[in-house]
Amino acid sequence: MSADTTLMPIPGPVDPVPVPRAATSRADGKVELIGLPREGIRAALEAAGLEPKQAKLRAKQIWHWVYNRGVGHFAAMTDIAKVQHPWLSERFAITRPDVVEAQVSSDGTRKWLLRTHDGHDFEMVFIPDADRGTLCVSSQVGCTLNCRFCHTGTMKLVRNLEPAEIVGQVMLARDALGEWPSSPDGRMLTNIVMMGMGEPLYNFDNVKQALKIVMDGDGLGLSKRRITLSTSGVVPMMERAGEEIGVNLAVSLHAVTKEIRDEIVPLNRKYGIEELLSACAAYPGANNARRITFEYVMLKDKNDSDADARELVRLLRHYKLPAKVNLIPFNPWPGAPYECSTEERIKAFSNIVFEAGISARVRTPRGRDIDAACGQLKTAAERKRRSQMDEQGARAA
Ligand code: SAH
Ligand code: SF4
Repeated sequence: MSADTTLMPIPGPVDPVPVPRAATSRADGKVELIGLPREGIRAALEAAGLEPKQAKLRAKQIWHWVYNRGVGHFAAMTDIAKVQHPWLSERFAITRPDVVEAQVSSDGTRKWLLRTHDGHDFEMVFIPDADRGTLCVSSQVGCTLNCRFCHTGTMKLVRNLEPAEIVGQVMLARDALGEWPSSPDGRMLTNIVMMGMGEPLYNFDNVKQALKIVMDGDGLGLSKRRITLSTSGVVPMMERAGEEIGVNLAVSLHAVTKEIRDEIVPLNRKYGIEELLSACAAYPGANNARRITFEYVMLKDKNDSDADARELVRLLRHYKLPAKVNLIPFNPWPGAPYECSTEERIKAFSNIVFEAGISARVRTPRGRDIDAACGQLKTAAERKRRSQMDEQGARAA
């Protein structure tokens, strides 16, 4: 398999950057039904020649089998006449991304290396806790934004994931956890965070289409209150995200001065802190019962002083934000230009925010031993390429 390398521009930190274009069709010419709204399935069936009434009925049946039972082929759909199964499978696909590798961390965190039908690799992580299980879903292969502390940001290859590839991650997790048919009680997978690879608000339409299916009571059935979308600050898309998707918002703030945020989150040069926090204040649906999470990665001697903590409190108050702060100890990766703040520093920072009446939890790093922790995601293929390059470099030296 080879990746399609035709280039197209998608937004970057300052100017658009050329990336491999999105896959639009499968090599076998079949139409992928996963990721389509019900109405889209119906329309596809009708376009292939089914009578309108039949198309409507079949769409309903297929939807049920796919999203309530998790079946992966038409032959299992027992209320559809057997003679129609080959007709369907010649024209349509219901596929998940391929699983290239599945790993389990010593703390129970699981990571999957997945592959798209056109040969792009990306990752997904499941984090089990006592009272919940959170799936960390990717929205792009790589990321155009190059935050300096993030491993994904060093990847060159990027394409937007299709709705099928985003919904497919949740379905794969249900497969792996044995959670079909999906009943809302006693599930391990209870929460979703759009915090894997990529910037979800630079793939807005596909993320929206996918999350609609994930949130559909008759689809994958997860409440919007259990889904969080994290953005590094794509200001012009934030209002639409709140209005049209309506999930919880997390914002990767990470710094409180222009100088430092420009350095570590280059998108800040395009959309500055004031603009970002104003957009947060206007985020539809945010209130004291549904707070915005501000993520803040703790980088030693970079953004972790008492003065930074006090400025953070001042900013959150100034913009009257219903906020909670999530302090993320920096997770190292080979060649990273930063170190994690000391435990005492993180504690001191957290105390200042907490004493101002703002929740300031320190996020426990999970799955570090399998590179599954925040900011460590980078496909195994790329890691291998890099380590080969390092080896060659060492030999040449
Ligand atoms: N692109 C989106 C969502 C994916 S990143 C965003 O940036 O918000 C998910 C979170 O992990 C972000 O808050 C990101 O800043 C953080 N992160 C990235 N690299 C990290 C690292 N090396 N250590 C700890 N957190 C990191
Ligand atoms: Fe992209 Fe988020 Fe990583 Fe920044 S932190 S490079 S926006 S994935």
